[in-house]
Amino acid sequence: MSAYLHIDWTRCDGRGLCTELLAGVLDRDDWGYPVARGRAGRDRTDVPLADAEVGAARDAVALCPVLALTLLQGTRREGPSGPLQGGRR
Ligand code: SF4
Repeated sequence: MSAYLHIDWTRCDGRGLCTELLAGVLDRDDWGYPVARGRAGRDRTDVPLADAEVGAARDAVALCPVLALTLLQGTRREGPSGPLQGGRR
């Protein structure tokens, strides 16, 4: 199953909890907001996940204090096929 994590920067307060839980795929920008490692533009807020990273992503969604994270099935290019957890979709 492919999955990705969507980050809603309009809700995020940039404290970085998710970047600690998903250090392999998330980095922080100059203002502290989480971004996908090695990606640019819109791809920075839609983070593809390996199967082994989905558990940590679920934790990040559950622990984000402002509900800024959504775990989605599929890939961003395919479009979401449904939320796995969190967010406002
Ligand atoms: S845990 Fe939530 S509020 Fe904190 S940096 Fe990540 S997305 Fe932003």
